[in-house]
Amino acid sequence: MKAPAITPGQTLGILGGGQLGKMIAIEARRMGYRVLVLDPDTACPAAEVAEIVQGAWSDPTAALELAIGCDVVTLETEHVPYAVLAEVERVRPLRPSAQVLKTIQDRFNQRHFLHRHDLPQTRWANIESLAALDAAVAELGVPAILKRRTGGYDGRAQARLYAPMDAAAAWQALGEAPCIFEAFVDFAAELSVVLARSTHGEIRFFATAENIHQNGILHTTVAPARFSPPIRAAAEDLATRAAVALEIVGVLTVEFFLTRDGRLLINELAPRVHNSGHVTLGACVTSQFEQQLRAVCGLPLGSQHQHAPAAMVNLLGELWAKGAPNFVAVLAEPRAHLHLYGKREARPGRKMGHITVLAEDADEALAVAQRLHAQLAAQARV
Ligand code: AMP
Repeated sequence: MKAPAITPGQTLGILGGGQLGKMIAIEARRMGYRVLVLDPDTACPAAEVAEIVQGAWSDPTAALELAIGCDVVTLETEHVPYAVLAEVERVRPLRPSAQVLKTIQDRFNQRHFLHRHDLPQTRWANIESLAALDAAVAELGVPAILKRRTGGYDGRAQARLYAPMDAAAAWQALGEAPCIFEAFVDFAAELSVVLARSTHGEIRFFATAENIHQNGILHTTVAPARFSPPIRAAAEDLATRAAVALEIVGVLTVEFFLTRDGRLLINELAPRVHNSGHVTLGACVTSQFEQQLRAVCGLPLGSQHQHAPAAMVNLLGELWAKGAPNFVAVLAEPRAHLHLYGKREARPGRKMGHITVLAEDADEALAVAQRLHAQLAAQARV
């Protein structure tokens, strides 16, 4: 028998109170849920809209305190240790499950999962010694990327190899920790599919998005991606296969490389709402954050219909170099929405907020988003 749905008035727990947790919490509060968030920082972004249980993600006692106060627990990050997730799952429904996180949070397990399910990916090798790295360089060649198996995000815990002689430095730079070695993909574009899978196995996906990264960090998203419907449909099909194989409940994001010869390779799975799905808030009937809430509460999913083409540009800490930016130009643009996460301290590379733009067509939305970002960047330089 299916567990009963968790309904307004009941309590959602979120592991992590960054901007993703905050945006899930806002949707949950709007719909009448109480929200508890586990975060080490009582002034984290989600603290503006949720009650905080203070504790590190690696602290099983704090995670249990959160879980006991909730009816269902979800998460905004894949970096909560498996042992802590298993503790939470012992006392309350955890969605997505500890098993899903175990598959995804170690890059080796994730690559193995993709391989087992015949899902296309970059060529890779598991690296546990410098000798293994030298062998992988000889077999797969350079340029290549070495990524720590656990703990990396936004291009962190990664090192690029341009020549075989870079191997020793890369191995040391990543602390001689277990790594995955990946052949560098000379991609035409990066795409992502954000989908939600309910407790009943219903799947709904948002339009395939097109992502532009700078220094390993997402810079801009355009949705729908400016590629042919068959390419978008192929990405949706692969993402659906991954979600079914994982048996995930909640939002799943699948990041792809589109190669120059038109193949889709899966770069990464994220078992959560995602930066490339931020356009859905405002552009779609149901945002990725509401979809996450609906999925983990055992409710029917909402419509993913998108009202208009949209673009999103991230606002990183660099834009705060001369103090808080003046957002008047952004607010004067009627097609733009400003989102600020409420982080007290701005650091280079730190995600402080984003802007979304809806327009008649995707090129126009992107051009407006880029113009608004360029104006803020110019202010930060003067
Ligand atoms: P990741 O954290 O693994 O998603 O990597 C962050 C970004 O680095 C990706 O979105 C790409 O822009 C780039 N990148 C990562 N792996 C590769 C690869 N194997 N080939 C080319 N670019 C990559």
